[in-house]
Amino acid sequence: MDDDVSDVDAVVTFEHADSFVGLAWVHCIRAGYDAFPLDTYRDAGTALTNSTGIHGAAVGETALGMMLSLARRLHDYRDAQREREWAPPTWDTPFTLRDERLTVVGLGTLGRGIARCADGIGMRVDGVRRTPTRTPHARTVYTPDRLHDAVADARFVAVATPLTEATRRLVDAGVFEAMRDDAYLVNVARGPVVDEDALIDALAAGELAGAGLDVFREEPLPASSPLWDLDDVLVTPHASSLHRAYHEDIADLVRANLRNRNAGADLLNRVV
Ligand code: NAD
Repeated sequence: MDDDVSDVDAVVTFEHADSFVGLAWVHCIRAGYDAFPLDTYRDAGTALTNSTGIHGAAVGETALGMMLSLARRLHDYRDAQREREWAPPTWDTPFTLRDERLTVVGLGTLGRGIARCADGIGMRVDGVRRTPTRTPHARTVYTPDRLHDAVADARFVAVATPLTEATRRLVDAGVFEAMRDDAYLVNVARGPVVDEDALIDALAAGELAGAGLDVFREEPLPASSPLWDLDDVLVTPHASSLHRAYHEDIADLVRANLRNRNAGADLLNRVV
């Protein structure tokens, strides 16, 4: 990355660089700003904005795609296709998503996008959020202290919270125990929100049916990870929000904030 910023007041960036501290404004191209040293920005008077608000459709569709593949066994057929094998499933393996229960943990932009897509094909959606107010497409909304109750009946649990000290390893062995044995985990948030060792243990022990994972404790996912080899685990390379017009969404956000800055108004999506 070219982090020579001696001639500029502001940068638009995926990642933090020490040379950005002291600039007037840094815009993070991601929604998750967990890798930025917030106190350092605050102390330096550098404004930090993020890109929340734009990923709902893409991540919602990716999470729905993962759930559809796991229910309709599309990943099995693709694996068989590579071997030129005609491999119908055993009669009781595929199921339909209609009427299956989904619990979405975190009902911000991502969580609502997932809830909207899932509701659209007839899933029964519940959610977990800190303020348990009514949320579109979710029937029951639980507070985080009732996470175990919220996941107990779900066929799918989708994780969509930011990574904070409160959410680090939020989804741990206790959550996997509370989940049904035929349930699937979908993580499109950040790897460390899930206790990855506990997930691998639960999958190996048959305490969970499978998972759709876009994010991992370490990225790229190391070649040695057992997650690569599990039949009912879908691994995607932190790509759930990507689409060909992503840069246009970011440009709209930055343009709106430039206007705000020039007009002396508050920045949108201001983190610091
Ligand atoms: P957002 O700010 O719109 O929503 C986050 C929601 O999580 C908020 O409603 C917040 O109240 C809730 N939350 C926080 N702590 C919680 C807790 N303990 N329990 C339940 N809910 C809690 O952010 P967003 O745009 O939806 O993104 C969420 C996170 O997803 C980002 O911080 C980022 O790390 C990750 N993300 C991943 C991708 C990807 O490509 N996989 C793309 C975008 C965002």
